[in-house]
Amino acid sequence: MRVNVLGITIDSYSMQEAVAEIRKAIEDQLSLRVVTANPEMIYESRKNPRLRELINSADLVTPDGIGVVWAAARLGTPVQERVTGIDLVQSLFPVADQQRWRIFFLGGKPGVALQAARQVALKYPGIVWGESHGYFNEEEEVDLLEKIITFQPDILLVGLGAPRQEYWNAEHPELARVSIGVGGSFDALAG
Ligand code: UDP
Repeated sequence: MRVNVLGITIDSYSMQEAVAEIRKAIEDQLSLRVVTANPEMIYESRKNPRLRELINSADLVTPDGIGVVWAAARLGTPVQERVTGIDLVQSLFPVADQQRWRIFFLGGKPGVALQAARQVALKYPGIVWGESHGYFNEEEEVDLLEKIITFQPDILLVGLGAPRQEYWNAEHPELARVSIGVGGSFDALAG
């Protein structure tokens, strides 16, 4: 079920259900665009109709923040639990390890995505990974798109910050089976 919080529609899936949806999309070769909607994004989307439309048209929108969970409950349409970007990726890694999924880490300052991917691969060696930092100009973007397309990710993790990562994922549906905006998650994963 999807519930409406201040004009943004949020899926009431638990973490486990969100992981199951993503797994199913990869297995069925469907494409899935995921937004982890935090309170700042919901607030911003009230003034920014394009962002609101991009979030509401995503295939999976998770409540990224306890404030979103509370707001949904107060509106009489509770969601099951908070599903943040970092928690979602942490829950996907064991499945990715087992299934040998290909994950591309895009975003963060130079070296951060690389460090994050290496840390993840130490724990989950079954994951096949690629990476790029998130500070590229238009010319470099052409090479970056080529690199991602060649890599053929099952999952593209995009940590360019909101709302840029949401625009990026909506504009490039062809890059991966599943694309997820993950904010500053690589900074956390890099340690
Ligand atoms: N970032 C990037 N390219 C940019 C601007 C930002 O890759 O042009 C990265 C930045 O290094 C950080 C992330 O995007 O890793 C944004 O994280 P932040 O926690 O500020 O954003 P949020 O989680 O609130 O979306």
